[in-house]
Amino acid sequence: MKIIDAHTHIDYITCDVQPDVVGAICCAVAESDWNKIIDLTKHDNRIYGAVGIHPWVVDSVKDDFYIRLIKLLETNSNYMVGEIGLDKYKPNMQKQIEVFTTQFDIATKLNRIVFLHCVGAWDKILCVLKQYKNSRMPKIVVHNFNANKDILEKLLEYKNIYFSLGKNAVYGKNCRIEQIPVNRILVETDGKKEVLLKDILLKIMQIKNDKNIADVIYDNTLKVLKNE
Ligand SMILES: [Zn+2]
Repeated sequence: MKIIDAHTHIDYITCDVQPDVVGAICCAVAESDWNKIIDLTKHDNRIYGAVGIHPWVVDSVKDDFYIRLIKLLETNSNYMVGEIGLDKYKPNMQKQIEVFTTQFDIATKLNRIVFLHCVGAWDKILCVLKQYKNSRMPKIVVHNFNANKDILEKLLEYKNIYFSLGKNAVYGKNCRIEQIPVNRILVETDGKKEVLLKDILLKIMQIKNDKNIADVIYDNTLKVLKNE
């Protein structure tokens, strides 16, 4: 079995600690992570890097962060954009929207995969996505997916959206495994040591009744990473 962790962070590199994990996508939280991630990807070819500003840290973001983000992405064609998004339970929604839309726009223009964080703000995210419906929207990986059926149906209208299942899948919350098509599923730890990728795969295997699901998910992740 081969597994790629579709969303982890700099302090938890899954390939070193969990069995069968052959690759990991490392997402930034703050700008201070960017260089560390770049360094890691240069020294370890199992690591794929995503750079961006997380909605939890928008208060400390510098106004000109986007200039450095664009420069970094332009000089490194394989870097993706993440973790970006909106979180209803964190302060300063107006600033979150500003920082998210700036980054989403950059990802669209440079055609980079987006790792999306959304908690309780799907109405706002769907509004943003609607504006891009007719332009070339980048591939989006929704991290730790957990939302209702209506939202899932709206997201499935976009063929570029993938769903990364994590701790919510294991703990049986609202992650809609039954309704997500197998070719759109990825798996992730989100950098949490207690989340075992094998447990998530087992759960998906049982629900989908598909013994080859791990191979399908591995292929899905490679397809996303190739950004074809
Ligand atoms: Zn994360």
